[in-house]
Amino acid sequence: MAWKIGDVSITSVIELDLSVDASFILPDATPENLAPDFDWLKPDFVDEDGKLKFRVQALLVESCGQKIIIDTCVGNDKKRTTPEWSELNGPFLENIAKSGFKREEVDLVICTHLHVDHVGWNTMKVNGKWIPTFPNARYLITQPEFEHWSHEKDQSYAQIFGDSVAPVFEAGLVELVDCNHQITSELQLMPTPGHTPGHCSVAIASRGEEAIITGDIMHHPCQCVHPEWECVADTFPQLAEITRRKFLDRCSGSDTLVIGTHWSASTPVHIIKHKSAWKVKVSSANSIKNAKNKS
Ligand SMILES: [Zn+2]
Repeated sequence: MAWKIGDVSITSVIELDLSVDASFILPDATPENLAPDFDWLKPDFVDEDGKLKFRVQALLVESCGQKIIIDTCVGNDKKRTTPEWSELNGPFLENIAKSGFKREEVDLVICTHLHVDHVGWNTMKVNGKWIPTFPNARYLITQPEFEHWSHEKDQSYAQIFGDSVAPVFEAGLVELVDCNHQITSELQLMPTPGHTPGHCSVAIASRGEEAIITGDIMHHPCQCVHPEWECVADTFPQLAEITRRKFLDRCSGSDTLVIGTHWSASTPVHIIKHKSAWKVKVSSANSIKNAKNKS
């Protein structure tokens, strides 16, 4: 899937498409609690059984002549405590190369935050060692995010940092940046803290068109109508809810398109008012005003 926002090209490369129980990510999002919204959640975001559709994808962005990867998924060969994410052996590198992003040609890697499913392809295993997957890229990580996780004592997280963040830092490829860092003249980080301390989204503005790549502000569109539903992995749940509400309020009724990092949408979507909260409006690709499907 590929879209255009003004002059900016965005291609989604999917590593995993899962259907998960509420307990996997959003404990409140049970089939019973989702049922009143099945009319707009099915079939795009919830499956026949009421399970949550949950995508792991990297977004390949071309802006101002730069090849930029936003979030690097789970990665291959990594031992993880979540069975769905452990020791994968997928064709991710082949798929990004097919989309015009050979790993040696990538200029920038942006991690919206440093969780397991956003840093995996930062590195790859070669002769038993973790080496940077994108040897000629700068890896942008926000200062507070790096500070927080580099001091995390939890053993399973330390392993993630050790195999997916430390090797790129030690190779001198990491640039620690502010949470509102200007990436190119068309792309800027947008601070959206709560899920993690230095969590950022990516705002795109080009030729009067706007889109936002969410990162993990929300893991699933059902949080539009229930911004109070917290994710099992939120570091600061209350702050995460405040951030979600601000974000939804900002996008609601505007032309800003939203690209949900874990959302199983085939196009960017709009946010509209719904009940006392919000929901998403999925438009078919050729009727979206701002996002012109490339293919
Ligand atoms: Zn995530």
